[in-house]
This record gives sequence, structure tokens and C-alpha cells, in this order.
Amino acid sequence: MKYRWMFFLAISAVLALSMLAGGAEPEHNRYHQHLEAVEKEPCTDHGASVFCTHLPLMEIVTDAPVPPPFIGPTVDMEARNYETVAATVRYFDSETENNHLTDDPVVEERAQFRIRGATSRRVDKTSFLVKFQEEDLITSLDVSLSGMTADSSWALHGPFVDKSLIRNYVCYNLAGEIMEYAPNVRFCELFLNGEYWGLYLLTEKIGYNENGRISFTKTDPKMAATSYILQVDRGTADPRYSLENFGYTSYVNRPLEGDAAGRLEIVYPGKTLTQAQHDYIAMDFSRFEKALFSYDYDDPDKGWRQYIDARSFIDFFLINEFTLNYDAPGLSTYLYKDVSGKLKMCVWDFDASFDYFRYSFVTPETFRIQDQQWFKYLFKDKSFVDQVVKRYRDLRRRYFNEEYLFSYIDDTVAYLGPAIDRNFEKWGYSFQSTCNGKNYDFLIPEERNARSHEEAVRQMKDTIAQRLKHMDSNLDRLYIRCHASMNKKFNNITEDGGT
Ligand SMILES: [Zn+2]
Repeated sequence: MKYRWMFFLAISAVLALSMLAGGAEPEHNRYHQHLEAVEKEPCTDHGASVFCTHLPLMEIVTDAPVPPPFIGPTVDMEARNYETVAATVRYFDSETENNHLTDDPVVEERAQFRIRGATSRRVDKTSFLVKFQEEDLITSLDVSLSGMTADSSWALHGPFVDKSLIRNYVCYNLAGEIMEYAPNVRFCELFLNGEYWGLYLLTEKIGYNENGRISFTKTDPKMAATSYILQVDRGTADPRYSLENFGYTSYVNRPLEGDAAGRLEIVYPGKTLTQAQHDYIAMDFSRFEKALFSYDYDDPDKGWRQYIDARSFIDFFLINEFTLNYDAPGLSTYLYKDVSGKLKMCVWDFDASFDYFRYSFVTPETFRIQDQQWFKYLFKDKSFVDQVVKRYRDLRRRYFNEEYLFSYIDDTVAYLGPAIDRNFEKWGYSFQSTCNGKNYDFLIPEERNARSHEEAVRQMKDTIAQRLKHMDSNLDRLYIRCHASMNKKFNNITEDGGT
């Protein structure tokens, strides 16, 4: 008996050590609204005519009409309108009772307000940006909403093309479980200038804030060396924030013909950015790219590894590949770096995820990101591919898992409950192929468009199952990218022992 105990203890010790060596998952303490919100009883003190929701409720009243999404009649990307309007924002968020417009708001502040997004600004139910300000309408004001980090800047994402309504919620929270930071999100319902606008996802804008969000060393305008955040998208018209990096523009991702993606913009430090800091960021970021494009790219000391957090890049790759989110990495992508740390990546915007890219060439049988931007070069390094494959197998056991995701989806839909019906009472006409002469089949070809919420949710689950099956059997193919025949050894006659 004694030996059996010793054997058991020894096995336990080995298991515990191997878990430590394998890098047990750090706890992220991610808040999942649908799991943690208190269940609320129906109200008995008012009739059906009173608007009543178990979700947080936002009411926005603008001082003047909301500026249109585009300047002039065209819908070109260049014609996007960033004009804001002053507004009063009220937020109703009782933890235990349903919310009504006649309740006492937990937040009542002034803000600048505008339509936001790129493709999404063309649709009927637009997304919005809210920037809280003091009464002077100049000074930024940090406001906490539903327990999220106090900050002035918030995105109100209105799912319209996404008929499941839950893509961004599911994906941000999945990323938040896996990565160091992903924007926190809460569902709410929105009234704009007295009109009901349906279900929205209140989303933290990516930025530095002393209270949280991306946390690193605050910038000091007196120093050239600084922490920074970069956005990869269509770039900025303001040269002060545009980043000319070492990376050759011809190698930069162009996901859509004629669409200027893959441009870098400095989003932090913001207004206080100095020329010396701008030069530092260009130099610092280029050091990574030079190492990546160098002959010593895979050298642990001279190569890319000394500049970037490999795990962060791998998780960014895997979450966007798994969800088929092919706006990334040329669009809607963020990178951030502490002044004394390594470069990390952050996700943004899952509108096109789970087979919702407009055109059907993005299918669950595709891998794409390995050919784009820095990933094209990272995948030349076998040690990087090894890490990708291993990380996928680890995630597959818990988060990239049908059982986990299907119940996550079902529970979220159940939590939203009547809010889904209210949303589609307003926007349900968009399930039709055409309405009032306008085409609402966003996805091409036509049969990809869901005709009901149930069908949209089923589509999402089917895509997840198909995608996991494909990744399980094909992820190993990424090793082609690092094979000697693709890389330096092919041309290196001394290493191959002669011609
Ligand atoms: Zn009520």
C-alpha cells in the first residue's frame, strides 16, 4: 500500500510540473455579460406600451441632426464623414431591475457623436462613436459603462448585416479569454433622438488609459522613446500620425483590388505626439521588420524573436483564422508596444467573421493570413509554425471547441431573449432579398443570406464545425511555408553540402 501511495504522489508531482512547464493558462477574468448578469423579473407596475428591457439602455439626444455617413452623394471610402455632433447621453443600467427611459440614469453626460465604420456605414442600421466630454465640450471625460474601464471613447456597434447579432460579442470574448487584451463588450439597446434603434454592442475603443484597456508605461512627451499603439487600416490623411516603416509597401497586404489597406497609423501617443517620438516609433518598428526580412530572420538573437511577443502574434493569427476574419491583418488590426516590452497584437471588428465576408471565396476550407504582411515572413521560421500548431491543439481542447462554443452561442441567444425580437421588429425587413427597391442580400451569392435569426445562428454553428474540421486536418500544411525548398537553404549551396 505504501508504495502505491508513493507512486501516486510521484505521478501527481510529474503532472503538476508538466502543467507548469507547459505554461498553464493565465486567468483573464473576462466578464461575459450573458453569464454574469442577474436574471430579472418581469415588471408588474407598467403596461406593454412602456419600453422595458433587461439589458442596459442607452438614450442619445443630439443637439443637431446626426451628420450623414458620407460627404456628398458618393459612398467612396475617401468621402467618409467624420463630422461630429454634440449630444447628451443617458445610460440606464440597473443591476437588479429592468431598465426604462423614465428611470434615473446611472450616467448622464455630454459627448461628441458620429457614425463610425467603413463598409458598415453604408447600411441602414449604422454604428456610432461616442466621445464623452465635460460641459465645455472640449475636455475629454472618462466614463465607466457597465463596469468597463472608464474612458472617453466608446464604439456602439449595431449588428445589421450580421443577422445572428452575436458575432462580435462571441469573438471579442473568445479573444479576451485567449489574449492579453481584447476590447470588452456589453449588449445594450439604443434610443436615438426618440427613436428605437435596436440591439447594439457597446465596445471599448482600443487605446491606452491609466485605468486599464491596454496597459503599459504612459508616454512622456519629453522623451523620444515611448510606448505606442499602431492601427493597420486604410491609413490617415494627417501626416503627423502616418508611419513610414521599413516594410516594403509592395509586400503589404492588399485584400481587395484597389483598396488601400495595410497602412500604419500611430494612434498612441495621440495629440501630444512629438516629432522625436514619431521618429523613434518609425525606427523601433522598422527594427522588427528589418530583422524579419533579414537573412538571420530565424536566429533567436538576431531575428524577429527579440522584437515581438510570438504568442500574441500566434493568437492573433489563430483567432482570425479560426473565425475566418479576413479583414485582418490588413484592416482593423492593432499593434501595441510598451516602451520596454515587445510588440503585441490586438483584434478589432469581427463583422466579416464566420463566413460573412461578402464574397464566397472565403470559405471554411481556406487559410489566408499566412500569406499576408509580417505573417508571410514569420511562417518561414519552423519554430514559429511549431508554436502555431501546438497552440492550436491547446486551444482546441477548451475554447476552439464545438461544445464550448455552441453552448456559449445558445446561452447568449437565450440571454438576449426578447431584445432579439424587438431588434427585428425594427430591422427585420432586411431578411428579405429586396425591400422598397433596395437590395438587402449583402452576401454573394444570394443563397448565403439567412432569412431568419434562427437560420443565421445555425449558419454560424455550421461554419464553426466545418472550420474546426478543416483546421484539424490541414493546419500541418502550414509547414510548407517553412520548408527548405521555400527558403534560404534552397539557395545556400554550402549548407546543402554542394550543388
Ligand atoms: Zn419594466
